Amino acid sequence: MKTKYILDEADMPTRWYNIIPDLPAPPPPPLHPGTGQPVGPDDLAPLFPQALIAQEVSGERYIDIPEEVLDVYRLWRPSPLYRAHRLEKALGTPARIYYKYEGVSPVGSHKPNTAVPQAFYNAAEGVQRLTTETGAGQWGSALAFACATFGLECEVWQVRASYDQKPYRKIMMETFGATVHPSPSEETESGRKILAADPGSTGSLGIAISEAVEKAAGDPEARYALGSVLNHVLMHQTIIGEEALKQFELAGDTPDVLVGCTGGGSNFGGLAFPFLREKLAGRMSPEIRAVEPAACPSLTRGRYAYDFGDTAGLTPLLKMHTLGHDFIPDPIHAGGLRYHGMAPLLSHIYELGLIDALAIGQQECFAAGIQFARTEGIIPAPEPTHALAACVREALRCKETGEEKAILTALCGHAHLDLPAYAAYLAGQMTDNELAEETLAEALATVPQTG
Ligand SMILES: *Cc1c(COP(=O)(O)O)cnc(C)c1O
Repeated sequence: MKTKYILDEADMPTRWYNIIPDLPAPPPPPLHPGTGQPVGPDDLAPLFPQALIAQEVSGERYIDIPEEVLDVYRLWRPSPLYRAHRLEKALGTPARIYYKYEGVSPVGSHKPNTAVPQAFYNAAEGVQRLTTETGAGQWGSALAFACATFGLECEVWQVRASYDQKPYRKIMMETFGATVHPSPSEETESGRKILAADPGSTGSLGIAISEAVEKAAGDPEARYALGSVLNHVLMHQTIIGEEALKQFELAGDTPDVLVGCTGGGSNFGGLAFPFLREKLAGRMSPEIRAVEPAACPSLTRGRYAYDFGDTAGLTPLLKMHTLGHDFIPDPIHAGGLRYHGMAPLLSHIYELGLIDALAIGQQECFAAGIQFARTEGIIPAPEPTHALAACVREALRCKETGEEKAILTALCGHAHLDLPAYAAYLAGQMTDNELAEETLAEALATVPQTG
């Protein structure tokens, strides 16, 4: 009974996959908020290096991964694909459960898969420093690590609530050489405005993005880096799915169901897109399912409309499933899933009916996380417990029907720096915080009226 499917370094994929040319229709472009016209490369140049702007709008199906990036990837890639024999047994299911584990990276999640190329392309174009935001701290630590690797300075705005509650992520970022500010901060116009209105603001990802974007836009030697949402970020993450395809070949199996958690959509898209390519080509037919928290359900309850990516309205307008750019989700434990929008590319694919989505409350998610920890030995980050809860539901359905489905789950990180979330669950102090109808209506009222 094989447990791990391991690829040799020599079998690591050397190209990222861009799904856009394989879709039946292209995703709607980002718009300039002033003119209402699609943004051009010149609009983005103050924020991103040319190589990443080109990738953002590329029509090429595959993009070669630079040798310098492959060298860093080899520190932890290829990542293992596991068969969850012990979880299957505990559930008494005839389903075969597999998980692709990204917690083996230097910071414990999938985020370095894009942080490393982003830092590389910026350094190659002579950029001196990168600014970014972070919520739970996963993305900030990934970018701090990547900047250290390519000799860039790194400045991070961390959502105030996490900055106060999660000192270890801040220490990790500083260990890699980054400077960390709590957000909202006095460092930017956007931060000062929020603090003037609400001195006790605990912040949000939308506010932290405004601060990091504002800082980069005002410094010619700096650029901005985003850890999810954008096309090029989702594309960098496809190395996960490309490896998993090869590993399923080793296992002599094919997934019938694929589940992943969605915050901005990058770990899910990264695993799912190569499988979706195979499905669109008629070579396999997995159901592909995105799972989001009931407290921040952008895909399942948000509006598909043009909205800002940040709170202050400094970014282009993105056509996406959004809860409104002012929306501040309840302080649930899965910090990485607390974003008001969803990747435009994933939103588009959802509208095309190529994937389904559901929202699950955090108590059921942590129950699945604990069952997973006690059987498989890995304590999942709060975010992928959402995927695991959906995986457990599917496995139990199989138990009822007797179907022997193969289920593939994205296990995008471990919880070693998020253990207080488990403490809250074990102490019986966790609530589901489902988004109320009235709160949703109020939040949606802030979505700008565009065509
Ligand atoms: C950032 C993060 C997420 C959410 O971001 P996606 O772009 O949706 O993947 C999920 N899980 C972990 C472990 C994260 O660090």
